[in-house]
Amino acid sequence: MAIIKKTIKTIKIDADKCNGCRTCEVVCSAVHASPKYSSVNPADSRIHVITHRLNDIWLPVFAGEYTPAECNGRDQYIIDGKEYDECSFCRATCPSRNMFKEPGTGLPLKCDMCEEEDRPLCVEWCLNDVLIYEEREEEVDQEIEPDELAAGLDSLIDKFGREKTETTFARLLQNR
Ligand code: SF4
Ligand code: SF4
Repeated sequence: MAIIKKTIKTIKIDADKCNGCRTCEVVCSAVHASPKYSSVNPADSRIHVITHRLNDIWLPVFAGEYTPAECNGRDQYIIDGKEYDECSFCRATCPSRNMFKEPGTGLPLKCDMCEEEDRPLCVEWCLNDVLIYEEREEEVDQEIEPDELAAGLDSLIDKFGREKTETTFARLLQNR
């Protein structure tokens, strides 16, 4: 397999600084609205802040890959005296929870690092410096990563079956 140079983009999370203001969710949903900035709905956001107010827990999590399978992870973690369940740290769009699913369609959402902007906007707007953007070059095996459309199609096939999905798409394309 060919080795290529790839820019790896990451956002580090300094969770201790997060105050749960949820500005990151607001700005993410606004920049991904269609048309851009036409609406704000944190349920549409690709970052979600897990909150347990009584336990003083505010944990930003970015939407990652879609997975059709429920995992077995049910561990509890105590970090700095605060108790977290394993799902809190998970970035997957999965059948166990409603996080990172487009309201209405249920299609998976994934953080795209604000690819149409100069910088990730959640980083730009987090005034507490919780989110730290970093870029680095890495040599990696060339691979074709599943894009957002492919992940959406996968989730439709899992939900409705291949035959129904194909028939519906064929009918829709015929009418265009
Ligand atoms: S904008 Fe920053 S401080 Fe506010 S919830 Fe998001 S990560 Fe936390
Ligand atoms: S980097 Fe962009 S797409 Fe990803 S969570 Fe932040 S605002 Fe949303």
